[in-house]
Formats: sequence, C-alpha cells, structure tokens
Amino acid sequence: MPRRIAVEEAFVTHEIVEAWDAVLAGARVEPGFRMMGNTMLGKSPGAMAVKGRLLDIGSGRIEHMDEHGIDMQILSITAPGVQVLDASTATRLAAASNDRLIEAIASFPARLAGLAAIAPQSPARAAAELARVASSPGIKGAIVNSHTRGEYLDSPKYAPILEAAQALALPLYLHPREPSPAMVRPYLDYGLYFAGWGFAAEAGLHAMRLIMSGTFDRFPKLTIVLGHMGEAIPFWLQRIDNRYQLQMRIGAAPKLNRLPSEYFRDNFVITTSGVCSPAALELSLKVLGAESILFAADYPYESVAEAVEFMDGVDIDEGDRERIYWRNAVRVFHL
Ligand code: MN
Repeated sequence: MPRRIAVEEAFVTHEIVEAWDAVLAGARVEPGFRMMGNTMLGKSPGAMAVKGRLLDIGSGRIEHMDEHGIDMQILSITAPGVQVLDASTATRLAAASNDRLIEAIASFPARLAGLAAIAPQSPARAAAELARVASSPGIKGAIVNSHTRGEYLDSPKYAPILEAAQALALPLYLHPREPSPAMVRPYLDYGLYFAGWGFAAEAGLHAMRLIMSGTFDRFPKLTIVLGHMGEAIPFWLQRIDNRYQLQMRIGAAPKLNRLPSEYFRDNFVITTSGVCSPAALELSLKVLGAESILFAADYPYESVAEAVEFMDGVDIDEGDRERIYWRNAVRVFHL
C-alpha cells in the first residue's frame, strides 16, 4: 500500500493559461483575478518556474514525488481554473483538461489520480461532464475553485452539480481562490487577497454558506473536502453552533435539521495543505477526529519537503499518522 498520498496537488494546461492571459488582457476582469494575474500568473521568474511545474504532469512530476517520498498525488486544476472564463470556453476547456488528466493518469496509474474540472457557469453541462468522466479510472472527485463570478454553490442554480457529485459518489474539493468581487475590496491592500488570509476567508465563507443554507439537508450524502486545515472552521466550530442556536431562535438564521458542526463532521473532511502547525493539527484532531484529516502538500505552491518533514515528525498516534497520510484518502476518494 502507498504510505503517503497527497490530495491537493495542482496542475494546469497550456490552453487554460492562454485563456487566462486573454481574460487578463480584456477590459472586464474581476479585481481579485487581476491581482492574481499580476503576481502568481505573471511573467516573473518565480511565477514562470511555478507555471513550468504546474504544466508537468508527466515524468518531471513523478521524479519530484520520488525525491520527497510521495507515493501518489491526487491532481486538480489550479485556481481559478476555468471559472473566470465565459461559459462555453470554460465548459470546453474543463473537458479538455479532464482528457489531459485522464491521459496522464493512464501513464502512471499507481502514482496519479485526479479530480475533474467543471465549469459551474453552465451547471447542466458541468453535471454532464461529471457523468462523462466519473467512470474513467483515476477520476476520484471534482474540484471547484470557490466562487464563480461571485456566486457560491449554495445557489439553487448549482443544484445539478451537487446532485451529480452526490449520485456519482464524487467528493467535491472546495479549493480557495481570491475573494469574490463583492468582498474583495478591503483584501486588495497588503496582499490580503492572497493565500495568507483572503483565500481562507473566501473558501471558509463558501463552506459556511453550504452549511447554513441547508445544502446538506438536501444532499445528505455529499462529501466536501476543505484544504488548509479546514480553512479555520475547526477553530470556530463551537462558537458557530452556539451562535446558530441563538440566531435561529431570534429569527436571524434559518432552521436546519441538525447543528452546523454535525454537517461539518459528517459531510466534510479537511486536509493539511499548506499548514505545518502542530497546534493547528492537534486542535483539528480534537475537534474532528483522525478519520476526518487527510494529508496534502499543495505542490507546487508549498514545500513538499516541509510538509513531509512536518507529518513524519509531529507528535501524534502512529495509527492517526497512517490515517492522515493515506488510509483516509483511500476511503474518501475510493482509491
Ligand atoms: Mn492548493
């Protein structure tokens, strides 16, 4: 059996990079994406090096995995994926990148698996794309890079996507990106829109919208994967329950069938991507239990060496270390 499975590992295709460049050259660009375009997706030597690694889902990536003791990567299209493109381009490029992903997995079936890209801009076609690729060996879930043009998956228009994910038993990885246009303004200063804070604020909000909208009363078998140690939600969970109960009584929150924390425990798992804090892991273990935490390295954005060094060395039960490193990934993604 594999010993280390990393479940939030990014890639991109040339076509998507070209489509981003076209959007960034246009007149109407989401402010958060414009900031990303000027840095992460730009032409600086650092950005170009990352881009080179994102584009390689062949032998170069396998070599890097070998170097760092990663037995398997679950690949997903990097943020914002196709979600900043017009609906028809996005739908076409999501399918093309899934075909590229399936081909890469076929070359290294023991080392790579993947999450399907979809274009939420066209919910019915996104659901059809999930159905198309679900039977491909190696496709083990779907990725959504948080908001799509400022909209979140709790919106009724996206129900076909959640319905398909649930019916096909595909976990949905809710990956961060820069905050939506309606919330991004105060994040544009000091780099706050980026992964140090804004990404977690955005993805955490998205997860909370799914919980508080009763999405899991409608889709009780849906599994959501949240990176970055649960985007801080485990830290807040007691207070979220406590205030929900008060707000529900005074009419300031809708009534749900269950407590917010119950959905979080049953419908979510979290990953360690980008977080190498023993305290944050300890809190998450106490709040959620070892069955709910999966290892991720967030290649190529984070140091895989640091992630492995952290997870090899952190002072936890050996059985829990195995659960986090690979056993939970095998269960959650049906590997
Ligand atoms: Mn990531």
